[in-house]
Amino acid sequence: MPLLARMIPCPLTVDVRSGAMASLGTLLSDGRISSQGQVAVVVGPGQGEQVAAAVRPALANAEFYAVEGGTVEAALRLADSLRSHDAVVGIGGGRTLDVAKYAASMTGLPMVAVATSLAHDGIASPVASLEYDGRKQSYGVQMPIAVVVDLDYVRRCAPEQLRSGLGDALSNLSALADWELASRERGEPFDGLAAALARSGAESLLRRTDGLDSVEFLIALAEALVLSGLAMAAAGSSRPCSGACHEISHAIDGLYPGTASHGAQVAVGALFASFLREDDLLETLGAALARHGAARLPRDLGLTNEQFVAAVAQAPATRPDRYTILEHLALDEDGIRDRVGSYVDAFDR
Ligand SMILES: [Zn+2]
Repeated sequence: MPLLARMIPCPLTVDVRSGAMASLGTLLSDGRISSQGQVAVVVGPGQGEQVAAAVRPALANAEFYAVEGGTVEAALRLADSLRSHDAVVGIGGGRTLDVAKYAASMTGLPMVAVATSLAHDGIASPVASLEYDGRKQSYGVQMPIAVVVDLDYVRRCAPEQLRSGLGDALSNLSALADWELASRERGEPFDGLAAALARSGAESLLRRTDGLDSVEFLIALAEALVLSGLAMAAAGSSRPCSGACHEISHAIDGLYPGTASHGAQVAVGALFASFLREDDLLETLGAALARHGAARLPRDLGLTNEQFVAAVAQAPATRPDRYTILEHLALDEDGIRDRVGSYVDAFDR
C-alpha cells in the first residue's frame, strides 16, 4: 500500500492552560514518552528553578540538571550526562529548551518542552538556535514529543518577552510574502500546508485588541508559536517563518550582539521588509506592533538608522540560499539608506 500523504512529526500532546504544570507527572507516566521513568529534567535560570521545585515531588526518579546559557557546548555537555535516561524534560525559556532539544536529539531521546515564557517560536519547532564560537546558529533537531505551556508562569514573565514572541509570530506574514515572491520570481516550490499553519497563527494575533495581560491573548500567542513550529516541520525548513525579517535580525546579531530580543529585531525587520515590498501588510502590521508597544523602528532596538542600514546591507549574506525582498531589490548601501530614511519618516509620527 503506497503512502498517500506526507507524515509530519507532531508533538503527542500540546497543553496550553493555567495550571498545566501540575499534570507533568501524569504526562511523564505515559509510557510513550518515558518507558521507565528515568527522566532527565533540564532547568534554566529564572522561573525554571521555581518550576523545578514545584514538579520535583511528582517526579520521584528524575535527575535534575541546571544549564546556563544557550551554547552548543552546554548542549554537548548535557548530552554526555544522558546515557541512562529514557526522556528529557526541558523547563524554562527558549535557550534552555533549545539546549535540551539539541542534547535529546544527539542521544535519540524524546524531549518534553515545558515553556515558562513565550519569547519565540522555538517551543514546538524542529529547530534549535544555539551559540557556537560566539555566533548564533540554527540546528535541525527532532520535534518535542510533548509541549506544555503553563499560563500561570507565562503571565509572570516580563512584557518584553511576550512582545518578542508576538514579533516572532507576526513576522511569519512577512516571511510568507517573501516566500511567495521567491516562488513567483524564481520558481521556488511554495508549500501551501506550511503556509496555512504559519499564517493562521499570525493572523489570529494581527487584529486582536486585547493586550498582553489578557489570558485569551496569551493562549492565542502560545498557539501561534506552536503552529509556527509545525509549519517549519511541514516545510522541512524555517522558510515559512523566516525571510528578510530574520536575515536582518541575524545581521544585527552578528554586527551588534546583544542589541535586543530576537522577536523585537524580527518585528522591525518584518515591518521594514513589508515597507520595501509595498504590500498591504505594512499598515496592519505597523498598527499591531504599535498597539502592543512592540518595536517598529531601529531606535526602538537601540540602533541608529546608520547601524540599521549596515545590518540590512549585511542581511542577505546571513542566509545565502534564501531569496527575499532584499535579494530581489539588491539595493546598494545608498539605496538602502534612502529607503531606511523614508521608512523611519513614515512611522516616526
Ligand atoms: Zn524567529
